[in-house]
Amino acid sequence: MFSWLSNRRRRNILCGPFPGWWEPILRRNIAHAAYLSAEQNLTLRNITRILVAEKKWEAARGFAITEEVKVTIAAQAALLIVGMNDHDYYGRVQSVVVYPDAFRMPNEEDGWEEDDIGSDNITGQAVYRGPVILAWDDVLKEGRDPSCGQNLVLHEFAHQLDFHDNAIDGTPPLKSRDQSQRWHTVMTAAFVEHKRQIAANEETFFTEHAADDEADFFADATEAFYCAPHGLHDDFPDIYALLAEYYNLDPASWFART
Ligand SMILES: [Zn+2]
Repeated sequence: MFSWLSNRRRRNILCGPFPGWWEPILRRNIAHAAYLSAEQNLTLRNITRILVAEKKWEAARGFAITEEVKVTIAAQAALLIVGMNDHDYYGRVQSVVVYPDAFRMPNEEDGWEEDDIGSDNITGQAVYRGPVILAWDDVLKEGRDPSCGQNLVLHEFAHQLDFHDNAIDGTPPLKSRDQSQRWHTVMTAAFVEHKRQIAANEETFFTEHAADDEADFFADATEAFYCAPHGLHDDFPDIYALLAEYYNLDPASWFART
C-alpha cells in the first residue's frame, strides 16, 4: 500500500517536462553529469526531481535554500544511485540541512558519522536515521570539480546507503552472499592495511579520515571511485570492481587519464 502510494506520488512528480531552468544548474554545478549516457542523464534528472520534491530542505545559520541549492545537492546524491535498479530514493533521509560553510555540531549522539576538517568545525554529517547536514561552499566547489578528488555529498550519502541495513559498518545491503563475502574480504584487508600505513606515517591513497572506521573507509572509497577512478582502478582494482558492481557504473571510462 505504502509503495503503491509513493509510486503514484512519484509518477505525479515526474509528469510534465523537466524544469528547463534546472539545466544550467546541472551544467554548471554537476560536472559528472557531462559524462553520463543519455539514459543515465534522464535517470539522474528523474531522481533529482524526486529528491527535491520529497526531502525537507532546511537552511541553517542564516543560509537560504534556493532551487539551485536543492538541485545541486539532489543531483550529486542521485549520482550514487543512478546506476542502481533497486533503491528507495534515500527513504530514511527525510531532510537535508544546509549551512553556508563549515559548522559545529555541539550535540553529537551515538551513531552520528562526523567528518572533521579540524578539531571544531565539520563540513558534513550523515545522521543515522536522520538528516544529511552539509556545508554549501564545499558542496558547490566539489560538485563543479571532480578532479579535486573528493566530494562531500557523495561521502555523506554513501554513509546513508551504508546505514540502510541498520549497521554502520561500511557494508551497504548487497545482492548476494558471494558479493558480501568478496566485499568483506577485500574491504577489510584494504582497511587494515590503510590503518597500518597511517600509523606508520606512510603515504596513502585514501584519506586519513578513512582510517577512522569501516564506514568512513567505504565513504572515502566511494569519493575516490567517482572523483579519482583511475587511481582507484590502478591501485585497488578489487575495490574498484566491487564498487563498479555495487553502483553499476564505470567512472574510469568517463575521464581521460591525466
Ligand atoms: Zn564520514
